[in-house]
Amino acid sequence: ERREAIRSWRGPAQLADGTPVDVLANVQDGAGAGRAAASEAAGIGLFRTELCFLSAENEPSIEEQAKIYREVIGAFPGKKVVVRTLDAGSDKPLKFANFDEEENPAMGVRGVRIAENQPALLTNQLDAVKAASDGNPTWVMAPMIATIEEAKSFAELCRVRGLKPGVMVEVPAVAVQAEKFLEHVEFMSIGTNDLTQYTMAADRMSPKLARLTDPWQPAVLALIGMTAAAGQKTGKPVGVCGEAAADPFLACVLVGLGVTSLSMAVAAIPAVGAQLAKVTPEQCKAAAEAVLGASDTAQARELARAALS
Ligand code: PEP
Ligand code: MG
Repeated sequence: ERREAIRSWRGPAQLADGTPVDVLANVQDGAGAGRAAASEAAGIGLFRTELCFLSAENEPSIEEQAKIYREVIGAFPGKKVVVRTLDAGSDKPLKFANFDEEENPAMGVRGVRIAENQPALLTNQLDAVKAASDGNPTWVMAPMIATIEEAKSFAELCRVRGLKPGVMVEVPAVAVQAEKFLEHVEFMSIGTNDLTQYTMAADRMSPKLARLTDPWQPAVLALIGMTAAAGQKTGKPVGVCGEAAADPFLACVLVGLGVTSLSMAVAAIPAVGAQLAKVTPEQCKAAAEAVLGASDTAQARELARAALS
């Protein structure tokens, strides 16, 4: 019965009472954007641009970048497309961005931190996104933001190009001060993969640490709740684009915590959509309140399941 509900589910995503939920796709190139457009996704919530250039020896020109970005943005005309600037380093090193060996690359010069020494990498990319946007205010977000200063300077670089600036919430410091960050940017997107890694001090690539790199960890859920609450208070969108959004029950919890969009692999959309369709906003809120009181992942899952069925 569940399988049939998933197979026959059609968007746009909504809760049982008709409350809309913005369900978006994570993509990494034009082909993926095409598949997303053929799916029930309402837009793109995470375009991982660094994955386009994993084998590039040199920085792609602005024109080369714009061509790829146009394929992705053009797949959803008039719809939301969130482009993430290069998240180079750590598990995704780029030959033209990451030159130094680091002791701890996950905590090293990755994501937006690269712009400090190589500012043109970021400004060239933003020029390319602008060129691909044909005057539309494409949403652009920076990965690995940790300070207000980084958020401010990134936002300025976006605004002068007519782009809509946002930041990813991957470093716990940002969740803790979410409201302050939202004074400077238009939206936030929570990257639960890295947020969990940095909150639990557990390498996301290590299978031995799976019990720690679990987004149902109550501390992670608390940080997501703080961030979503800041979004609600300021009226600015706060989405989730990490793997957590692809877990159907957790997706309902996230909605209950107040996040305004969920972005996931295209393959995960029907199962999440079908689960959202079964629950009311009240159930989502009850599940959210329950998990915030849980003391471990098992209890969080159990309480959420009870509140949602
Ligand atoms: C995340 O960290 O949750 C995220 C969406 O970014 P990535 O998985 O590409 O690091
Ligand atoms: Mg990340």
